[in-house]
Parts: sequence; C-alpha cells; structure tokens
Amino acid sequence: MQIPEMGDSLWYRTVGEPVVIDPDLTENLQSDVVIVGAGYTGLSTALHLAEGGYSVAVIEAKQVGWGASGRNGGQVIPGLKLDPDDLERRFGAALVETAGATADLVFSLIEKHSIQCEPRRAGWIQGAHSPRALKALNGRAEQWARRGASVDFLSAAETKALTGTDVYCGSLIDRRAGTIQPLGYARGLARAARQAGAQIFGKSPVLSISKVPGGWRSNTAGGSVSSTHVVIATDAYSDRLWPGLANSFLTVRSIQMATKPLGKIAEEILPTGACVSESRKLSYYFRRDAAGRFLIGGRGPMREEKSAEGMFTALRSAIQQRYPAIADCEIEHQWSGKVSLTIDQLPHIHEPAPGIHIGHGYNGRGIAVSTLMGALLADRIAGGPMHSLIPPSPLQAIPWHRIRQPLLTAAIGYYRLKDALGFGS
Ligand SMILES: Cc1cc2nc3c(=O)[nH]c(=O)nc-3n(C[C@H](O)[C@H](O)[C@H](O)COP(=O)(O)OP(=O)(O)OC[C@H]3O[C@@H](n4cnc5c(N)ncnc54)[C@H](O)[C@@H]3O)c2cc1C
Repeated sequence: MQIPEMGDSLWYRTVGEPVVIDPDLTENLQSDVVIVGAGYTGLSTALHLAEGGYSVAVIEAKQVGWGASGRNGGQVIPGLKLDPDDLERRFGAALVETAGATADLVFSLIEKHSIQCEPRRAGWIQGAHSPRALKALNGRAEQWARRGASVDFLSAAETKALTGTDVYCGSLIDRRAGTIQPLGYARGLARAARQAGAQIFGKSPVLSISKVPGGWRSNTAGGSVSSTHVVIATDAYSDRLWPGLANSFLTVRSIQMATKPLGKIAEEILPTGACVSESRKLSYYFRRDAAGRFLIGGRGPMREEKSAEGMFTALRSAIQQRYPAIADCEIEHQWSGKVSLTIDQLPHIHEPAPGIHIGHGYNGRGIAVSTLMGALLADRIAGGPMHSLIPPSPLQAIPWHRIRQPLLTAAIGYYRLKDALGFGS
C-alpha cells in the first residue's frame, strides 16, 4: 500500500470553500513581493501585504493548501511548544502574549472573511499518560492561568467526562483553542488574499531565485516574477530552492484516518467537541468533524516507498485502546502529510540575503502560528511594529543532518515498539 496523499484526505472530500483553479505562471511579471508556497504561511503573508497596499504574487508548485495546510488535524492550538515561563525568559513577555492570542487571530480571520471551514471553539485537551507528564501539564496550566488565559488543569475524572475515555491520569484544557476544516481555511485565506488584490499562480514550482538589480527574479518553467522581496513559505515541503533551507530542520510524516459518521455514539466520544492530543513522545491526536466522524492521527513512516499499512494498523489499535465502542467501525479516509521539526522546537524567521524572508518550523503545531508568521513576515517587509517579536536567526544546516534523519526514524520505531509492548513513552 502506497502512503496516501492529499487527494485521499477527508478534507479534500468535504471542503465547503469552492476550489479555484489558479492559472500557471506563463509570463514575465513584476510585483513588490513574491511568495513561494500557498499554505497558511504564504497565504497569511499575502493577505496581510495585499491589505496593506503591496502588489503580491503567490507562486505554488501544486495548488492552494496542497502541503500540510490542506491535510492537517485541524486543531487550532495557541502558544508555542515551549512553556510560557521559558518562552518569556528567552524572548520576552510580548511574544508569550502574542503567541497566546494566535487562535484568536485564526478565528477572527475566519469570521472577517466568512471562511467556510466548520470553525468550532470547544477547546483543546492535552491528556497526561503518566504521573510525570501530569506534573508538567499542571505546571503549564498554572503558567497560562497566571497570565489570565482560560487554561485549567483537569483531574482524571474530569478528563474522562470531557473525552469519553479513561486512559489519562489528568489533563490540561485550553479553552482558547478549537477546530477547523483545514483545507477550507487555506482556500478561504486564498480567496481573501485574491479579493485584496494578490495574484495566485498554481502548478508552477519555483525552480530558482536569481539576483537582479533592485531585487530578485523567481523563475518557473513557464515564466518569472521580479520583486524587491521574496518570502519562502515552503516549510516541510521545502525542496532545494534556497541553499541550506531543507537541511535546517528534520521532517517526519504524520498520518491520519477518519471513520464514517458515527451517529449518536459520536456524542459519547468527546461530548463537548473538544480536540485532544497527548503528552507522550509518540502522541496521538484526535477530534470529531462536523458530520460526527472520528479522526485520529499520529506519526507515520518517512520514506515514500515504505508501506503505510502497519502505521494505519497502529492508529486502529489506538482507537481500540481509547474507544472500544467504535473499534470496529468503518474507516472512510486515510491520508498523510509532512511536518517540520526544529532542534529548539521553535519557529524561525531567516533573512539569508537582503529581501529574502523565510518563515517555517512549526513542529506539528502550525495552524495558528503560521497564520501569525504571515502577519509577522508582512510586518517585517512593511517595517511595522510587530516585526521584532521573532528576531531573525541565521539559516544553519543541522549538524549531521543526513544521519539525524534516519536516527529520528529509528527513534520513532523505538517509541512505537515501547507503546506496543505497553511501556508507554
Ligand atoms: C498530518 C498533519 C497533521 C497536522 N495537524 C496539525 C494540527 O492539528 N494543528 C496544528 O496546529 N498543526 C498541525 N499540523 C502542522 C500544520 O499543518 C503546518 O505547520 C502548517 O500547515 C504549515 O503551513 P505552511 O504554509 O508553512 O506550509 P505548507 O502548508 O506545507 O505549504 C508549503 C507549500 O509550499 C509549496 N512549495 C514547496 N516548494 C515549492 C516551490 N519550489 N515552488 C512553489 N511552491 C512550493 C508546497 O506545494 C506547499 O503547498 C499538521 C501537519 C500535518 C502534516
């Protein structure tokens, strides 16, 4: 069985925002800014810049939302991977506050542009699989609550009442979070960006970026766009376009499956509609969709040619452990996508040459942060007040990248085996 891709996804089959076939780039054009990649990072940058009066050309290798933005779990979670105290110590209180408001940013854009993406703000539960994890979650909840965020610690009984499963010894609930239909959100951002004046080109991989007087020229097989600024928004789908970028992070595959609509039993599973992920190293994440399907995701095989069958079996067992009542229910969709991991678990902005801007590195939690990243990149180009929130860092290849990638794959296998043998991770 080949690893299923975007076309197999639930989101592709159920998206409410209509598809727009963007034209290929077949001319030599000029604009203030070129954006490479039409995921949330690129589209949010395009929207913010176009609304600010800049001429913008988004150039996408395939179609809007073809990367992680059209395939993810749709869990809109505020904050970054680091705990707020740690983040504040390293980057200051303003970044913690802004990162804490990223879900607000997503849901306000959805409302402002009437994006059809099944938005629901029923919170996110992070379930603890061990007493040690429980302590860490308790600390995280306390740090957010101290800052006035609607985040609480839940006992095992409270967690069971909200998740319908008793596998967790407690949890954190973040009520700022919610869920969306991810491809609908990507298409809606694209629609809003087009309406604000941005041009979007599809099926046009950018093959090279060359230096020209006054800026850069982004070249595709059929044409080019010259611009003062280029934003590279390709994240885990980065190819060799900009030297060193693809080696500055590691890539893992995340796989997902969705059941058929469950009818009444869906209300026993996640009765309030909250989404869930787990504290363990090989975390599963799950939620319901608007039609009452149960969706679950987790780590999958990295190599394209490797069979994904075993990994989908692992997702099946995860359903059985958490929700025996639906263990045998029919699976309608299976799909996968790529996630970028940075060594420090933080997103990065790089500016490797004047006028070149790169925003990436969301570590599997990118819906809200990449939307913010777009606003920050637009602000850097416009010289606005937000732009110093994430200071640019040098673009550096991860040492021993070629060795680390297979080591990461081996580590995933190790933790999966521990899980299968019942030792947790
Ligand atoms: C299966 C899965 C589940 C996830 N679940 C969640 C979740 O529940 N919550 C959450 O917050 N995050 C989640 N994430 C992470 C989140 O989806 C990403 O962080 C986010 O979508 C990244 O957006 P992006 O725009 O930076 O990149 P992408 O959406 O990946 O877009 C990059 C685009 O660049 C294009 N591109 C690449 N090279 C070129 C080129 N040379 N020329 C032109 N175009 C090019 C690609 O075709 C692609 O469309 C998940 C990710 C995956 C894969």
